[in-house]
Amino acid sequence: MEIDGLVEAQAELAAILTAFDGLIYICSRDYTIERMNQKFIERTGRYPIGEKCFKALHDRDDICPWCVNDRVFRGEKIQWEVLSPKDNRYYSIVNAPIYRPDGRISKIGIIRDITALKQTDKILEEQGERYKTLFEHSRDAIAIAKTTGEFVEVNQAFLDMFGYSRSELMCTNASQIWADPRDRIAFQENLEKKGAVRDYEWKAKRKDGSELDCLLTASVRYDENGNVLEYHGIIRDITEMKNKEKALRRSEERYRAIVEDQIELVCRFRRDGILTFVNDAYSRYFSREKTELLGRSFFEFIPESDRAAVARHIESLSPEQPVRSRTQRIVTASGETRWQQWTDRALFDSKGQIIEFQSVGRDMTDLVKAQEALQSRTQELERSNKDLEQFAYIAAHDLREPLLAVAAYLKVLQRRLEGRLDPETQKLINGAMSSTFRMDSLIQNLLAYSRIGQEEPCFTEINSQEILCLAMANLQSAIEETKATITYDPLPAVVANASQLVQLFQNLLSNAIKFRGEHPPKIHVGVTRVENAWQYFVRDNGIGIEPPYFDRIFLLFQRIKNRAHYPGAGIGLANCRRIIEYHGGKIWVESSPGSGSTFFFTIPDRRDAQSWKRAAEQESDVERNA
Ligand code: ADP
Repeated sequence: MEIDGLVEAQAELAAILTAFDGLIYICSRDYTIERMNQKFIERTGRYPIGEKCFKALHDRDDICPWCVNDRVFRGEKIQWEVLSPKDNRYYSIVNAPIYRPDGRISKIGIIRDITALKQTDKILEEQGERYKTLFEHSRDAIAIAKTTGEFVEVNQAFLDMFGYSRSELMCTNASQIWADPRDRIAFQENLEKKGAVRDYEWKAKRKDGSELDCLLTASVRYDENGNVLEYHGIIRDITEMKNKEKALRRSEERYRAIVEDQIELVCRFRRDGILTFVNDAYSRYFSREKTELLGRSFFEFIPESDRAAVARHIESLSPEQPVRSRTQRIVTASGETRWQQWTDRALFDSKGQIIEFQSVGRDMTDLVKAQEALQSRTQELERSNKDLEQFAYIAAHDLREPLLAVAAYLKVLQRRLEGRLDPETQKLINGAMSSTFRMDSLIQNLLAYSRIGQEEPCFTEINSQEILCLAMANLQSAIEETKATITYDPLPAVVANASQLVQLFQNLLSNAIKFRGEHPPKIHVGVTRVENAWQYFVRDNGIGIEPPYFDRIFLLFQRIKNRAHYPGAGIGLANCRRIIEYHGGKIWVESSPGSGSTFFFTIPDRRDAQSWKRAAEQESDVERNA
């Protein structure tokens, strides 16, 4: 029975020795190897029975310096790990005593290659380090908590986010970081049911009670029996993002309200005219639902003959000229043709490619119609003015003939009856004569007035100072009679109609003389340079004009009341205005009654820069010679 047991133990030992993936040897106190396993022979390549262990294992001739035999034979079991310089591998070594039944002690040495184990350890250690770094440096808060709500571990971001110190947190329950702890119960139930929850949006609470919007991603860790062990949570603070979102939404709402409340039509469209956005006003204008308009090209509303021009206009928009306006015709749902004005803006991506167009437009039909009506009325007015001028000219011309005949008859009558008439009849005939003269002068003035519009424009470069002198010569007798003095500044050369300019100066000077005050007339003619024109003035010391008449005196037949004793018909200034307007200038008066009047008029400078320079040079020559 005992022998059976021994045999069995020997078989088991042999199996262990063979199965063991390391070296096993037994040696005596004097280092002699007594036994070893098959692996020993395979690895060392020698059969070591009777050999010294230091020779068999390390090919040494004397005892290894690290030998622990002394301690083992004193009864110690010694275990250590070593990195072999021979093959650079890790070994685990166990040396232990074997107590023989005869009282002898041997040593068993077990050597195992643990390099792979060591490498796995190292990888695990590195992995652990990596996770630890990630955990600590994560910007998201990370927490591990028990099912009861006690925190097991949290990272620094968690403490920063919630405002707790690490020690404070250890006495805090997870439910305290929920703005509404009831939410936590619901969340926990859901989490346990699903095992993991991603991006759950919740309101968290800091230590100071302030709230923050967070995204929570959590998972459950189970023990080996499948019971919930703890929760792992990653928390992202999205308060700022939420605020930005809110601000964006608010500004978008505001923008939308502005666009939608516009009475202007607003739309966005692609290059092919397909509408991607229209506001309420647009949909109302076209009497179509927005849904009906979007995805449809606005070119459909434009008459076919106008489409190419509109397409060309849109094509012409570029990063250099991204905004342009267009006026176009459209046909409404009811078939009516209307006018619209649009301001188009091209929207570009970062590469300068057009993404879309944005346009703001309005209906222009009433304006276009009003402009058309105005234009046709203006043309009508011009025509009727021309007819009137023609009529005045012909009438004046034809009226003069019988008038001159009446004057001639009166003259003959007067000659024939000379000396035979009583003074009363003579007075009547004289009155009739002077009336015909007055009538003739009136008709002549009228003729002059209507002639201004009839003549072909005849502008030449003339010296306005010479023109003034001509006018003064024509008025010589009136000047002498009234002892008038006329002074003037050097006057420039201008491009004008010479005879009209003589008439203008003559009218103004004769008025200045005619409407003189108590003192002899003192008249000065001057000129100043204004932008692109010469501004002349004729100043007198006469009776002056009251402000209400400043404009009226320039109208035909308009005279100032209570001045009937001054001869005249109220045509002179109307003539002056017509002449100045004919030259493209303006005429006006400044005056205060009793202190004289100053008449101003402008004549645009039509000469080119070169001739202007020439004139200036000539003028300075004159000055030098003088
Ligand atoms: P007329 O001299 O024939 O009355 P005008 O058209 O030349 O017609 O002038 C219109 C009116 O303007 C004159 O009747 C006069 O009352 C007023 N007027 C014109 N020039 C002067 C002036 N230099 N001083 C005062 N009043 C003037």
